[in-house]
Amino acid sequence: MTITHNLGFPRIGAQRELKKALEAYWKNELDETALLAVGKALRARHWAVQRDAGLDLIPAGDFAWYDQMLNMTVLLGAIPERFGFQGTTTLSRYFQLARGNAQQPAMEMTKWFDTNYHYLVPEFRETTEFHLGSSWLFDEVAEAKALGINVKPVLIGPLTYLYLGKEKQDGFCRLDLLPRLIPVYRHILALLKAQGVEWVQLDEPVLALDLPPEWVDALAGTYASLSQECPKILLTTYFDSVDNHAELLKALPVSGLHLDLVRDPLQVHAFIREFPADKVLSAGIVDGRNIWINNLPASLQILDELHAALGERLWIAPSCSLLHVPVDLAQECRLDADIKSWMAFATQKLEEVVTLAHGVTQGKQDIAAQVARTNSILENRLFSTLCYDPAVHQRISALKAADENRASPFPDRIAAQQRRFRLPPFPTTTIGSFPQTETIRSARASYRQGRLSPEQYRTAMQAEIRHAVAKQEELGLDVLVHGEAERNDMVEYFGEQLKGFAFTEHGWVQSYGSRCVKPPILHGDVSRPQPMTVEWSLYAQSLTGKPVKGMLTGPITILQWSFVRNDIPRADTALQIALAIRDEVLDLEKAGIGIIQIDEAALREGLPVKRRDWAHYLDWAVRAFRISTGGVQDTTQIHTHMCYSEFNDILPAISAMDADVITIETSRSDMELLEAFRIFHYPNDIGPGVYDIHSPRVPSQEEMLRRMHKACDVIPPERLWINPDCGLKTRNWPEVEQALRNMVAVAQALRNTWPENAPVRA
Ligand code: GLN
Ligand code: ZN
Repeated sequence: MTITHNLGFPRIGAQRELKKALEAYWKNELDETALLAVGKALRARHWAVQRDAGLDLIPAGDFAWYDQMLNMTVLLGAIPERFGFQGTTTLSRYFQLARGNAQQPAMEMTKWFDTNYHYLVPEFRETTEFHLGSSWLFDEVAEAKALGINVKPVLIGPLTYLYLGKEKQDGFCRLDLLPRLIPVYRHILALLKAQGVEWVQLDEPVLALDLPPEWVDALAGTYASLSQECPKILLTTYFDSVDNHAELLKALPVSGLHLDLVRDPLQVHAFIREFPADKVLSAGIVDGRNIWINNLPASLQILDELHAALGERLWIAPSCSLLHVPVDLAQECRLDADIKSWMAFATQKLEEVVTLAHGVTQGKQDIAAQVARTNSILENRLFSTLCYDPAVHQRISALKAADENRASPFPDRIAAQQRRFRLPPFPTTTIGSFPQTETIRSARASYRQGRLSPEQYRTAMQAEIRHAVAKQEELGLDVLVHGEAERNDMVEYFGEQLKGFAFTEHGWVQSYGSRCVKPPILHGDVSRPQPMTVEWSLYAQSLTGKPVKGMLTGPITILQWSFVRNDIPRADTALQIALAIRDEVLDLEKAGIGIIQIDEAALREGLPVKRRDWAHYLDWAVRAFRISTGGVQDTTQIHTHMCYSEFNDILPAISAMDADVITIETSRSDMELLEAFRIFHYPNDIGPGVYDIHSPRVPSQEEMLRRMHKACDVIPPERLWINPDCGLKTRNWPEVEQALRNMVAVAQALRNTWPENAPVRA
């Protein structure tokens, strides 16, 4: 028999039960006993789903009240000293680490590889010690065993745990902590063994990154020392190929290796050659990152070959944890039947794993019906008009090089734009959204439920726009926005109006803690049937003599935050979205909107796991942006916005986007990013965010002025704008007003000291 297993199951619950329970608990509407009961019931249900699907080995330890990395921090007793906690971790302390308390900000959060999941970053100091800090893992294993589950505990491996953490102190390297960390892992493994655990899964996804050599060198010693008194170890890798480490991994004293064959099926060749007789190879063949059905015949072809070489030593699994896909497609009742038939969520993916195992061992007749069904579904998808739109392909093949270029170079454009807009030095603007008040949210909800007519809804939104415009005029901002009251989400809003997208009712995926997102399903060729934002922008512009920025989401961000089709390259889909956005840009321009911002909040997170793939990605990503914007006249000003500061390595690509103005997040790192601009001379206008919008704190004039002075140091002042870090939708109006009033005063102060002989804006 071929063993089937799973690396992790979504913990949030098909109805987001965990989210709801957590939020109620945080509001003191649910007590701890009740919260614990919700977690226990979810674990039991998820184990049962996996057992009933027919899996042989089922994960435990994939459940977390907030995050699996935080669970490790707690298990390893590596709680940051700054919290001052002694002794074992309680639930209340666990949440203080995740969410902060009155004395301490929360532990930092960052994206888990190239996913939209955020983990809590371990904090290390030279003195960091490790010890067994919680019994949760062992309790859960016991819980599973009591339910008769054949359990395989899951841990983040020691190298991944250290590598993904951060040094909070200069002058030491967190890798130096490894000798202190290993004994605790050994202790944990020994305890699991004593519980009767046969297999344990150690996740080492950092092996798929460009891992520095000293980290790679540490691998063999680490696992030699772990494998002393422990259950059999399955070392799992995912999110990209690890074929560069094949020989090293094959020689490790572990009992099994897991490979992501969805991201890179070819890597298996490097492993299969003389694969050690004492190991199993787990083939991650069902996509844990996307929601399309498995191509069973194609998978079987790969698996048959592996089975011929490995026999019983072949295991079958999803490519990675199913954390990144929604729980159960069966709940979707409103999806188009064809589109639904193309899809598989976590529950369906388990069935696919089991079907594949049957096919490999029992022979093809056993699964003939499933294969025939897959073939007919794939054929239906191939020829479906929901996927294929010849008009889109004609447009793409008719694209010319000139379509991605503005008519004139930036210096000429900015001069023409300045003649048109006559902006003062240090123009002030905001990033787009204004507070999403309760009134706005309830108007949108009423509209969706049909309690507000389209007319009533439009009237309500226009009132919001009037309010936002009036406030901005009163505050004395130079370039205004309409405020985005009509948008709940910067991707969903556009997805709903574009052809090629579908939406689920329950397709939630955990983003961090209790926060879930419901990514649109991008299933077909993309086009824009009609204008999406023109009416709102025009209305806002009709209220003021100052320029109002049109506000769009860029092709890469739409791509990145959706479940994207797997039948054509991502680059092709990006180009299709780019053309749809281009249509909108040109319609805005035609309607007289002179400044248009295209947000690319997710450009950086789309970077591939491996550096060798960066250039190709940046190439098509930048081209997509340029196609969106290349059609406008010199006098139309294109802005873009990005909200992250780690983009030193991609500055050349960002400058190749050739937006006239870029606004970026810089204040959280106190303008650290600007150092990069010392080395790389960004050629166009820049608005480095002068205050952090994530905090309710109102920034003082002094601090913003200090930041602008820093900026003036590295960027010619005539190319600087003044704006917040990001959109203001999470703030309230009193905060926003005070903060922006201070910000405008800073611009005024800078203008007053503008040297007589300084270069004027164009
Ligand atoms: N225009 C968007 C807003 O202001 C940008 C959001 C973002 O960058 N994440 O809300
Ligand atoms: Zn932003």
